[in-house]
Amino acid sequence: MSPLGGVGVNLAVQDGIAIDRILAEPLLSGSVGTVELRRLQLRRLPTTRAVELLQAGIHRTVDPAVHGHRPIRPPAPVEWLLTTFPALTRIPARILGVGVTAEHAPDFARREEPTFDGAR
Ligand SMILES: Cc1cc2nc3c(=O)[nH]c(=O)nc-3n(C[C@H](O)[C@H](O)[C@H](O)COP(=O)(O)OP(=O)(O)OC[C@H]3O[C@@H](n4cnc5c(N)ncnc54)[C@H](O)[C@@H]3O)c2cc1C
Repeated sequence: MSPLGGVGVNLAVQDGIAIDRILAEPLLSGSVGTVELRRLQLRRLPTTRAVELLQAGIHRTVDPAVHGHRPIRPPAPVEWLLTTFPALTRIPARILGVGVTAEHAPDFARREEPTFDGAR
């Protein structure tokens, strides 16, 4: 994975939540095997691949501009799509920020919501 976009920590947090949800119970009962690890891998693969695809696309646009001092512009069809349908810009933002499969902590790992004054 490229360092472009500084996505590593974001993915690491999502990975951690998925690990929590999928592996916590098997870990507690001492029964983590390849089946559980494979399940985790399959869960995280779509997001990892989607982020890599986005990064590859951004590299194709940015790299020549950086080295050739040309203005940074997305490929014409992408630029047309994004200017015609601005809502589409949410898709890469969503993939980079949340992932393809949004990860949610299991109930046992959730804190009670603090009240307005910070008390619990
Ligand atoms: C110089 C640099 C700058 C970066 N800047 C950014 C940035 O600005 N923004 C961003 O989002 N990301 C950034 N990253 C990427 C980010 O740090 C990583 O993507 C992220 O830390 C990965 O987290 P992780 O928990 O998956 O793995 P890691 O943080 O690598 O944690 C894995 C841990 O497992 C331990 N470990 C490995 N093997 C074993 C084993 N066999 N037994 C026990 N423990 C083991 C390792 O010691 C390590 O502590 C940067 C990375 C580098 C190197």
